[in-house]
Amino acid sequence: MIEIKDKKDCCGCWACSNICPKQCIQMEEDREGFKYPKVDATLCIDCGLCEKVCPVLHADIADKPRQQVGFLSQHKDDGIRRESTSGGVFSAIAACVIRQGGVVFGAGYRKGTFVVEHQAVDRVENLGVFRNSKYVQSNVGDCYRQALGYLKKDRLVLFSGTPCQIEGFCAFLRGKIYKNLVLVDLVCRGIPSPRVLNSYITAQQQLIGGEFTNILFRDKYYSYQYSSFSIYNRIEKKNYHKGIDSNAYLRAFFNNLSDRPSCYNCRFKKRYRKSDLTLWDCFPIEKFTRELDGKGTTRVLVQSKKGEDLIRKASADLRVVEIEADKLVEGVREMFHSVPMNPLRDQFYSDLNEMHPVQFFQKWFPLTWKVRLNAFVRITCYRLGIYDLAKRYFMLFYKRKDERILASQIRRS
Ligand SMILES: Cc1cc2nc3c(=O)[nH]c(=O)nc-3n(C[C@H](O)[C@H](O)[C@H](O)COP(=O)(O)OP(=O)(O)OC[C@H]3O[C@@H](n4cnc5c(N)ncnc54)[C@H](O)[C@@H]3O)c2cc1C
Ligand code: SF4
Ligand code: SF4
Ligand code: SF4
Repeated sequence: MIEIKDKKDCCGCWACSNICPKQCIQMEEDREGFKYPKVDATLCIDCGLCEKVCPVLHADIADKPRQQVGFLSQHKDDGIRRESTSGGVFSAIAACVIRQGGVVFGAGYRKGTFVVEHQAVDRVENLGVFRNSKYVQSNVGDCYRQALGYLKKDRLVLFSGTPCQIEGFCAFLRGKIYKNLVLVDLVCRGIPSPRVLNSYITAQQQLIGGEFTNILFRDKYYSYQYSSFSIYNRIEKKNYHKGIDSNAYLRAFFNNLSDRPSCYNCRFKKRYRKSDLTLWDCFPIEKFTRELDGKGTTRVLVQSKKGEDLIRKASADLRVVEIEADKLVEGVREMFHSVPMNPLRDQFYSDLNEMHPVQFFQKWFPLTWKVRLNAFVRITCYRLGIYDLAKRYFMLFYKRKDERILASQIRRS
């Protein structure tokens, strides 16, 4: 039976819990708020299936080259693209699957909450629940089993998620190929814990007040290049929008403090995947083409013929520019390399459990005058229409400065 000795060896994909014939594996939260399998030994029949399907235990890390095609793409509907993280390609391919009678699995908020979980959608008008990246680990629940049920009934299924979730699903299917299955994964930097998000929401509720109606981790409120963490409120004037420079949640994420331990040694970072399509951002659009604007573009790496057919079918809703695959992946760090664990991570999580949420975020991410100045300069550049030009400089400046602020803050504490 599955037993996690080192937390780095479990990405939380839920394959073991979905395959267990006795359903005796519960996913339980640890002190950081990440879920890990816990076997009820009194029910276990020692069939060994849970170990067989674990994509970390049997990681196929070889990056075996094969023919690939690359695209840059944007949804033609500007409203859908505005709600999406990058170019809104996921919505176009998901809608295309549904129009063929299919069902789509992805990560969205559980209705009326900010709990992110995998769920199934089979109506185009409900696809909005999947739009925009949620920088928090999604609960897969029994979605692998649900999806298998549809596959067996010959229904077209699109399953989307992080690379480890897609490999977990493939392992759960135990190598069986389904013609009616399309897999879509992302380039994935890492995934924070739901406990950090809950704590952040509690802090913001105390500071802002009102009733939160939506939370977007990558809102295009200012622009695609200067995306913001946005909290929408029933009282409109309380809406909150802050960029990577000054939003505490994003600062934790991009300082590599809040990710799951497995993300610092991710076994799924590679170019040639088990998915049919791999999606990710394209900020420097001008480097590739003048045919697309800078308001959000998705890079699409086609991993299979099935993936290529789907993207071509969906292209009635898309503007598409074909790009050489080698050029598309060139310099994309998050596709190949895990982020380094921040040496202060243990202290971060221990403070998270011990401190009041407001004090916790104020301690770790103080709004010093330097942070405020950085945010002010960025917003001013955005208003002057020169943000895109200035962005490269900001990235360097911000990273070094935030690291220094964090280090000095912790030294003082
Ligand atoms: C946790 C995470 C980390 C990422 N890291 C990078 C990165 O480092 N570099 C980069 O270029 N791009 C990254 N991306 C991908 C990028 O943010 C966009 O998802 C991608 O460009 C597709 O955008 P879109 O506009 O086509 O679709 P969107 O509508 O924005 O994407 C929705 C898709 O993302 C899935 N999704 C959203 N949240 C989650 C979640 N928590 N878990 C699993 N699936 C989820 C949905 O199921 C759906 O398939 C990341 C995405 C996520 C979720
Ligand atoms: S060995 Fe079999 S029965 Fe026991 S926990 Fe694993 S899958 Fe379940
Ligand atoms: S990586 Fe997935 S299959 Fe392996 S132990 Fe963790 S949840 Fe189970
Ligand atoms: S970085 Fe790797 S382990 Fe972490 S969520 Fe992404 S794919 Fe999974």
